[in-house]
Amino acid sequence: MIPGARLIILGRQGAGKGTQCVRLSRHYVVPHISTGDMLRAAVREGTEFGVAAKEVMEQGRLVSDDLMVGLVDERLGRLDAASRGYILDGFPRTVSQAKALDDITADRPIHVVIDLDVPRDVVLARILARRVCRDCGTNYTATGAERQPWICDVCGGDVMPRDDDTPDAVNRRLDLYEEQTAPLIEFYGNTDRLVVVDGTLRPDSVFTALTEVIERSR
Ligand code: ADP
Repeated sequence: MIPGARLIILGRQGAGKGTQCVRLSRHYVVPHISTGDMLRAAVREGTEFGVAAKEVMEQGRLVSDDLMVGLVDERLGRLDAASRGYILDGFPRTVSQAKALDDITADRPIHVVIDLDVPRDVVLARILARRVCRDCGTNYTATGAERQPWICDVCGGDVMPRDDDTPDAVNRRLDLYEEQTAPLIEFYGNTDRLVVVDGTLRPDSVFTALTEVIERSR
C-alpha cells in the first residue's frame, strides 16, 4: 500500500494511460483524476463549462490553462484526494499548468511523474481503434469483430468512437502533444521527479513496471 501517494502519469494520447490509471487507482485505492473524463462529464451534463469545452475538444485543441487549473485545484482540494492521494491523468498538459500545479501542491508535493512512452505511429493506430460508452465513459478497443450496435457491458449504453477521435483531430492532438506537452518531460526531468516507463509492452507488464516505480518512489 502507498497511502497518500501523489502521482502524475504523462504520455501521448492513446499510450494506454487511462486504462493503466484505472487499474492503479483500484490497486492502491486512490482517486483517478482524469481531466478528459471530467470534461466529458461536463459535456454530458450540458453545463455552461461543458458547452464551451465541447467545441474546443472536438477541434482537438486544448481547453484554456485558467479553466483547467481551476478545475483541478477544486478537485485536489476534496477530502478523498487530500487524504488518500491521487493519480493525475491528462493534467498537466502544458508547462504553465505544471507550474500552477506546483503552486497548488506546494504543501503536499507530487511524489513521482511517470512518462508512459509509446511512439507516435503506435498510438495513432491505437486511438483510431478506441471506443467509448456514451453514457458511462467505459473505454473499449475495437477489433472489427464486435456486434453492431455495440452495447456497453457495464451500463448497456451505446459504445461509439469518441467525437474527438476523427483522424484530423487525432493528428492535431498529437502535434499539440509534441509542441505543448513534450516540454513537460524536460520540466520534470530537471527536478528529478521523472521516470520513463516503456508503454509498448503488454498491458500486464506495463502495470507491473508502473507499480515497481511507485513502490520505489515511496
Ligand atoms: P486523450 O485521450 O486524447 O489523451 P483526454 O481524454 O485526456 O485526451 O482529453 C480530451 C480533450 O480534453 C483534450 O483533447 C483537450 O481538448 C481536453 N483536455 C483534457 N485535459 C486537458 C488539459 N489538462 N488542458 C487542456 N485541455 C485538456
